[in-house]
Amino acid sequence: MDIKNFINNEEHIPLSGMWMDNYDPATGKIYGEIPSSNHTDVESAYQAATKAFPSWSNTPIDTKSKILSKIADLIEENLEDLARAESKDNGKPLWLAQSVDIPRASSNFRFFAHAITQYASQSHDSTGRNTLNYTLRKPLGVVGCISPWNLPLYLFTWKIAPAIAAGNCVIAKPSEVTPVTAYLLGNICKKAGLPAGVLNIVHGTGPECGQAIVEHPGIKAISFTGGTNTGARIAATAAPMFKKLSLELGGKNPNLIFSDCDYEKMLHTTVRSSFANQGQICLCGSRIFVQEEIYDKFKKDFIKLVQELTVGHPMSSTTKVGAVVSASHRDKILDYIAFAKANPEEYTILTGGNTLQIPNYEDGYYIEPTVIEVSNNTCKLNQEEIFGPVVTLMTFKDEEEAIALANGTRYGLSATVWTENLNRSIKLGNELEAGIVWVNTWLNRDLRTAFGGVKDSGIGREGGFHALDFFTETKNICIEYK
Ligand code: NDP
Repeated sequence: MDIKNFINNEEHIPLSGMWMDNYDPATGKIYGEIPSSNHTDVESAYQAATKAFPSWSNTPIDTKSKILSKIADLIEENLEDLARAESKDNGKPLWLAQSVDIPRASSNFRFFAHAITQYASQSHDSTGRNTLNYTLRKPLGVVGCISPWNLPLYLFTWKIAPAIAAGNCVIAKPSEVTPVTAYLLGNICKKAGLPAGVLNIVHGTGPECGQAIVEHPGIKAISFTGGTNTGARIAATAAPMFKKLSLELGGKNPNLIFSDCDYEKMLHTTVRSSFANQGQICLCGSRIFVQEEIYDKFKKDFIKLVQELTVGHPMSSTTKVGAVVSASHRDKILDYIAFAKANPEEYTILTGGNTLQIPNYEDGYYIEPTVIEVSNNTCKLNQEEIFGPVVTLMTFKDEEEAIALANGTRYGLSATVWTENLNRSIKLGNELEAGIVWVNTWLNRDLRTAFGGVKDSGIGREGGFHALDFFTETKNICIEYK
């Protein structure tokens, strides 16, 4: 499949004439080309977006809402094709794309189609001073949305939907590693009646195409999801230009398992929270801390279930763990495993730790789900984000130690706590340094809630009205009347 940029509701080849290969992670083979766009393509997208803005920002809310709902409908109608495309492009099991990624992309549009009809601003009647203040919420103009490869359409739409619902025009860049569903979305939006120039999708590398979006002086805000180092670079470029920034970055999420938990529910959910999407979800729990009393039992039961996970071709219905996204990402994960193997005094590999050759797909990027026991939270594997099918196990004694271990990293995206003790849940909810704390559940999302991280996991919040706040600017009008 050859992919084109989507600018002004038309398909465009890159102005430089440069293309990049797109790989199928399940086979390691090239299966298409994508534009290697640069600042000239971004400029062309910007011109289309800026031309569309006056009309789109003044379009009645009902009309905007209907178009967003129609996009949601069309994503649902095309679920099967989109799920197959996502699975092939990313390496994730087909059933996961069918049950999570694509339904969620549709929900993102449906949610913001509704949210925009309920979005209100404030007024302040300064009683006794004959003064009325009212606050307008205005769209920003042309905004940039940059998303990663792990949940391609899911995260791409999570940014685009609120941006256009709020009346902005968008220049969006998916990861060059997983461009296909973003490409398919362009035509869906056109079919749904989204006017030309409201959404423009440019494909290319981060340092060239992404950076051109961040640097463009006319683009008013950047909503970015990706790695912490990239986020820092984006902030360094955008902050002196006073752009609004929302940065959803990396994590090293703790799983705190207390001996009083609902054991079976915890065990099965922990397998999922460790290895879903090959461990490539920013919310996966990669550091598992278990209270001493149940550590040996947990270790045995967890390893048994992990060893039962079928690693295989993403299109096979029996596959639980598919291929990781790219050869370079596979190599990064393997470097961490090699480091653990080279330092046996610090790390014990309990299961996994190798690549796998799947018959007929020997060049695909498959890694065994890997569990590594560590004795110290300051070790490299507990401090650096691996973002693959690798988790560490360690014990703790009590609540105080659990909190210290959980908080002992530069990251603070999410944390999961397993306990039946209500007081403990509340205490940990207060004290854990994370933007999201789950108690006795994982990946349980209500789209109205705030989503984002603390510390090096980012700044800003997405979700619900938080996203609409980000994509609008307030203006206060103060009137003194007689
Ligand atoms: P990257 O930071 O490498 O890339 C994210 C996006 O930014 C891609 O589209 C990339 O393009 C682009 N990009 C890279 N460099 C620049 C630049 N200089 N200027 C502008 N854009 C740039 O992250 P990954 O794609 O590897 O995604 C994995 C990371 O994302 C993990 O750290 C994970 O934790 C994080 N993540 C965070 C989430 C959250 O909600 N907090 C959710 C999901 C993932 P290209 O790929 O084409 O180079």
